[in-house]
Amino acid sequence: MNMNPLCHQLYKVGKIGNINKEVITLLQKPNKVIQTNFPVKINNKTHHFKGFRVQHNNILGPYKGGIRFDKNVNINEVTNLASWMTLKCSLLDIPFGGGKGGVQFDLQSYNKEDTELIAKHYIKSIHKDIGSNHDIPAPDLGTNSMLIDVMLYEYNKLNKKQDYATFTGKSLTNYGSYFRKQSTGYGVGLVLNNYMKQTNMKFNSYILQGYGNVGRQLATYLHKNNPDMLCLAIGDHTGYIFNKNGINIDELNVFCDEGNDLVDFPNTDLISKDLFFALKTDVLIPAALEDQITVENAPNLKCKVIIEAANGPVSLEADTICKAKNIDVIPDILANSGGVLVSYFEWEQNKIKETWETSKLESKFYDKLNVISNEIFNNYLNNTNISLRDLCYIYSVKNIEQKYVNNNNNTVIIN
Ligand code: NAD
Repeated sequence: MNMNPLCHQLYKVGKIGNINKEVITLLQKPNKVIQTNFPVKINNKTHHFKGFRVQHNNILGPYKGGIRFDKNVNINEVTNLASWMTLKCSLLDIPFGGGKGGVQFDLQSYNKEDTELIAKHYIKSIHKDIGSNHDIPAPDLGTNSMLIDVMLYEYNKLNKKQDYATFTGKSLTNYGSYFRKQSTGYGVGLVLNNYMKQTNMKFNSYILQGYGNVGRQLATYLHKNNPDMLCLAIGDHTGYIFNKNGINIDELNVFCDEGNDLVDFPNTDLISKDLFFALKTDVLIPAALEDQITVENAPNLKCKVIIEAANGPVSLEADTICKAKNIDVIPDILANSGGVLVSYFEWEQNKIKETWETSKLESKFYDKLNVISNEIFNNYLNNTNISLRDLCYIYSVKNIEQKYVNNNNNTVIIN
């Protein structure tokens, strides 16, 4: 059967988990795919851009998912990301479906003002398809709270309203949420620590690919909570740095805040991407892009566990190689789900016009992530013949199945 990897994965867990075939078929295809082409005048020259928004599934609630600005954004990538959002929201049992969007362009070729203009025109091209009860975008790779504020302003202007709940990941001045910035990275750290506790393992080192929002917050979390765990190497789009005695995260954060490139950080050696992935370490944390661990580099891995801070960084074939090498892969839909959890809290606060203190947000966040991750790891230790990825997918799809069947299939509104 010729299927894309995600459809194959759903087909597989449908069989293992004995899940309603109709639900599996529904989840294998997105409800709606929006593709736009829009011009933007930059320095008196017209540039043409391709924009996407994929609304994967809304059985559980309004579509929810980030907007990605990257030169490689394409319809397949956005569709996969939207599908993962459906599964992630369901795993946490939050009342959102899955969506994702993006614009295909090279961020390095445009300055801040150009990027803001591109963001505005992108929203102009999709504004009729989003809304706080229908589809709620957020930041992702290449976007941030400042760009989300620009998009929110444009959306409200075009729709003549003041609906702050249409976007999450906003700045605090635009009714964003405390703890949103930290949420994804801190969530990855928390899930990793729960894995260590449940398996009685102690990790002393990690390597990290990606030092953007997620990678940096995660390194900061580990520096605070796991001070004995050395960060041996970090990589980003500028290159990979290594220090066998550990990279000083506090100093690196100051260095990056000063506008320096990661590769210029002192007291480290530059290494190749191939060497980075072949380093001996306890934990490998991909926090940048999809398909970073593949059939090419997976055979060389020397880690004990991989935690997917990015979406889809381990290919299906690499997953099989990792299994054969006894490397556990903690899947993205669990590992990085802290981001959408606090996005949900942000949306709730906007809807009821409240602002919650960090302490309240942190306690709701840790409670929810602790419950679900401990349940998954417990169940995994009792069922060693099933991978963590398959287990998370089964939990997630079963939840969707239950809602679908309980509602006599009436909740499926494809619009
Ligand atoms: P970001 O734009 O803030 O950072 C991306 C990082 O990836 C940067 O350090 C960049 O240099 C690096 N990178 C880009 N291209 C690279 C390349 N070719 N090789 C190596 N490194 C490269 O993005 P982010 O928000 O930190 O998101 C990172 C990942 O986490 C993405 O997969 C995203 O979908 C996922 N994610 C993000 C959130 C969130 O809340 N931001 C939530 C869940 C999942």
